[in-house]
Amino acid sequence: MLIDAHIHLDQYKDVEIPSLLAEVEALIAVSMQLSSCQKTLHLAKVYPKVKAAFGFHPEQPLLDEIEEKALFDWIRAHRDNMVAVGEVGLPYYLRQEQALDVRPYEALLERFIVLAKELGKPIVLHAVYEDASIVCDLLEKHQLCQAHFHWFKGDEAVMKRMIRRGYFISITPDALYEEEIQQLIQIYPIDLMMVETDGPWSFEGPFTNKPTSPWMMHSTIEVIAAIKGLSIQQVAKIITQNTKNFYRL
Ligand SMILES: [Zn+2]
Repeated sequence: MLIDAHIHLDQYKDVEIPSLLAEVEALIAVSMQLSSCQKTLHLAKVYPKVKAAFGFHPEQPLLDEIEEKALFDWIRAHRDNMVAVGEVGLPYYLRQEQALDVRPYEALLERFIVLAKELGKPIVLHAVYEDASIVCDLLEKHQLCQAHFHWFKGDEAVMKRMIRRGYFISITPDALYEEEIQQLIQIYPIDLMMVETDGPWSFEGPFTNKPTSPWMMHSTIEVIAAIKGLSIQQVAKIITQNTKNFYRL
């Protein structure tokens, strides 16, 4: 049984959730904004396998001051029901579609990093390509070491920097067909690796037209095993233990 280190469980239909949970030992359910945090909290209370992370996804318009305060207050009030702050980060894909001032997003991310320090929780990051080095700067500035870059993509220089700092990444099912992800697996140490689905986000290749579900992680484990020259059992064991240690499960 594997642990899905990053899934948007609140975006699935209620009837789908028991069968998703039957496939995993546990999962890290991240949140998009306040209503998503509230739904994720509810799921974590109903299902013990669901470990909640509370945050604000960066690929959307920012909150105003009052909304942001409400979100931060809510997260502080539910610190005992969460394993991490997340999903937070920088709006890489939004910026490809429209001109966007990234500075307020960086400022918000910095407030989330300070919040994670205050609460003593790890942080779940959406930070790809050139955004990853900006995020590394912020993490180093605040000496937050417990960082998980989910579905990470970026160049070797930033990868090396992340490895030196001991930041974790998680591998998605596109490892089966994306060379970029296979190269990442080659370079990144397995001791800093987890697996995830980012469900219900859909995948291609052998997963085309299949609803995203944690069973896909078994294929990801096979790819990691082949690249790292380890057995599937070894990889599953290491990855699961990494996830338990990182999220203190
Ligand atoms: Zn996500």
